[in-house]
Amino acid sequence: MAYGSFAATSAVLVLALAMPSLAIAQPPIVCLALSPKLSFDASNTGNVMEETRTIWAPLGVVIRAVEQADDSCARIIVVRADAEARLEDIADPNALGWVPFVAGRARQLVFLQPRRARSLVDGLTPATRHEGLTNLLVAKLIGRTLAHEVGHVLLNSMSHEKSGLMQAQFRAIDVLRWPASSYTLNSSERARLITRLSVSQRRAAQ
Ligand SMILES: [Zn+2]
Repeated sequence: MAYGSFAATSAVLVLALAMPSLAIAQPPIVCLALSPKLSFDASNTGNVMEETRTIWAPLGVVIRAVEQADDSCARIIVVRADAEARLEDIADPNALGWVPFVAGRARQLVFLQPRRARSLVDGLTPATRHEGLTNLLVAKLIGRTLAHEVGHVLLNSMSHEKSGLMQAQFRAIDVLRWPASSYTLNSSERARLITRLSVSQRRAAQ
């Protein structure tokens, strides 16, 4: 009897250990090709990507910066500076970032306006902050904006929510107030994300 109990307990343990590894075995990898025109140095790129990755990891999506796409990429999204936008791609000049839509579908393309992020952070406490900290706050604001725009692409939706990752407005002060982990998706957005990613993975497998 004792032996049987031990065996049953072991089986549960094995299953419990196996389940998480199965769950994280194949998270979709979304590859971001960052334009050199964004003028990020290595440190900025690292901080921007860290913020974006931190937001998307709990949502089951791996975000990776790549120079060239490879077979591991489930999606490739090009990230460009606002100065590279063609006339038809230009959005609100005050926007920190945006995604062009064509015929109701998101292009796999994000535009960022790093100078706008810099001016918003500079407006918090001008001339009193260490340059390194200012750069970090700017990178975090850009990283959150990038995570939001990736949300528009992956959800294939122009919609905004009152809170979370898909809220319409990202403020510099929130970088100091809220951790990246507070930028989540609600249940209907998560359901839409799973559907959209499974559709694209089926297409990729064909
Ligand atoms: Zn938006």
